Amino acid sequence: MLNIVLFGPPGAGKGTQSEKLIEKYNLTHISTGDLFRKHLSEGTELGKKAQKFMDDGFLVPDEIVIGMVDEKIKSDEDSKGFIFDGFPRTVNQAEALDSLLATKNTPILGMVALEVPFEELKKRLLERGKISGRTDDQSVEKIDNRIQVYLDETLPVSDFYRKQSKYNSIDGVGSIDEIFSKICTTIDTFN
Ligand code: AMP
Repeated sequence: MLNIVLFGPPGAGKGTQSEKLIEKYNLTHISTGDLFRKHLSEGTELGKKAQKFMDDGFLVPDEIVIGMVDEKIKSDEDSKGFIFDGFPRTVNQAEALDSLLATKNTPILGMVALEVPFEELKKRLLERGKISGRTDDQSVEKIDNRIQVYLDETLPVSDFYRKQSKYNSIDGVGSIDEIFSKICTTIDTFN
């Protein structure tokens, strides 16, 4: 199975690139942010638990996220591979993901990390907030908080994969197609 972690700060383009990658490689997209937004819109218990953290730009507690991903992986027995987008966001989540996948005898083959300067990220997120209506993209304080949370809690996840020789960095500035082509070149070396 082609299991990939698509990594990067908020606004790096993970969602956009995931859409293209799932189509090209026929993969299952697991975006924890999208899954939480779905729970929120459906008013589920899980959505209610996640809402406060999401509104303020903090991470939802690991046990909630990991349980949700576990369920999603198990619900797709015939998948050709998973693209994890916005997950894992803590080292604890990365360890849990390795354990979940070990039960299926199928590891993460590689991480693709999109690198984008912070000023560019802020610009992109504010633009996205105007179009998508996402409240966590509409205030500079919330955006700054999410970038700080990324630096403090999520960036160490890249070292986790570096130690496993699975880390690949891609310049995330440029046209969508240019970046997509660089990502594909990297993914085609995974095995
Ligand atoms: P995203 O759409 O990936 O930017 O996620 C939106 C929000 O959902 C984040 O700011 C977090 O509050 C929450 N979230 C998404 N994925 C995770 C995760 N893997 N761990 C903890 N919280 C998450």
